[in-house]
Amino acid sequence: MTETFTGAVVEEFGAPLVIEDVALPTPDRHQALVKLIASGVCHTDLHAAHGDWPVKPEPPFVPGHEGVGEVVALGPGSHSVAVGDLVGNVWLWSACGECEQCRTGWETLCPDAEYGGYTVDGSFGTYMLVDTRYCARIPAGSDPLEVAPILCAGVTVYKGLKVSETKPGQFVVISGVGGLGHIAVQYAKAMGMRVIAVDIADDKLELAKKHGAEFTVNAGEVDPAAAVQEYTNGGAHGILVTAVHPAAFGQAIGMARKGGTIVFNGLPPGDFPAPIFDIVFNGLTVRGSLVGTRQDLEEALDFYARGLIHPTVHECRLEDVNEVFEKMVKGQIDGRMAIRY
Ligand code: NAD
Ligand code: ZN
Ligand code: ZN
Repeated sequence: MTETFTGAVVEEFGAPLVIEDVALPTPDRHQALVKLIASGVCHTDLHAAHGDWPVKPEPPFVPGHEGVGEVVALGPGSHSVAVGDLVGNVWLWSACGECEQCRTGWETLCPDAEYGGYTVDGSFGTYMLVDTRYCARIPAGSDPLEVAPILCAGVTVYKGLKVSETKPGQFVVISGVGGLGHIAVQYAKAMGMRVIAVDIADDKLELAKKHGAEFTVNAGEVDPAAAVQEYTNGGAHGILVTAVHPAAFGQAIGMARKGGTIVFNGLPPGDFPAPIFDIVFNGLTVRGSLVGTRQDLEEALDFYARGLIHPTVHECRLEDVNEVFEKMVKGQIDGRMAIRY
């Protein structure tokens, strides 16, 4: 077996990733070595490479947490996957399994969790490790490139929509129609919701319409809260914010119906002013939502396997990763970019 593999490495925050040889890891207990076939590029990878968040990864590291590949070797101990199986790495790379959060169905909030492509090397390379207790099992018949974005974008918005408590027939706003948002439109539609999409670019709104949004608002041209209030005759029941600008977070509160729920998935660095009177007087719920549990992932993949979700994916190569990040900063990606190895 080769001693090294080719990876895209963050050597320094804010600098271009370096394509270089990385030492091939040996799978430890409960771990598998995976030969990658594809990996989505999430905006979180960009935040990671820029060191945007208060909790930072430690360079050098390999980003990527939407990787799909084949198990080529297993570490010691029991495994629920076998050599040859198609698996994926995810943001929730592993959790302790024992803390209060893990015990109560909130493993995504485990204080001892490891994060794929952040605290553990990820899928921007030809090989990676997964924890076989937490990795994704890719449904038979999946297109590796198309299924990759389900591993982060898909499960994140699916869980976000669940905790928005929006019921079939009710209005949900998807604010931000990027990698996450264009998939959120599809899950919301499949879950029976009436979908309104908000973005600042007309081509993103076209993509939302193509995937089932019945009404779209360009927040760069009109007041999106007023437009949503008018269209829904009193506000949306749920609002899912996947946008990468703090302005969208404040605007989301103004879109809600009395008793509505606003869920934040997007993680741009920064703050926004929150109107206390509106939140209290309208009985609003504002909550954050971080990826999803293993069970959420199974469910999200099952929607995909049943043909209900078709991410818009554009293929690139590992060597293109810096160019992809540049396009992402400018908001020029239509759906999701995915690396093919
Ligand atoms: P993306 O770059 O593909 O999409 C971002 C979208 O936001 C673009 O369509 C852009 O036009 C839009 N946008 C920018 N400003 C806007 C505004 N003012 N109003 C409305 N839309 C606006 O990014 P992505 O991969 O979809 O990720 C989105 C965010 O979600 C990132 O911050 C990422 O880190 C975060 N994320 C969170 C989780 C989680 O578990 N909570 C998981 C994955 C990603
Ligand atoms: Zn992600
Ligand atoms: Zn835990």
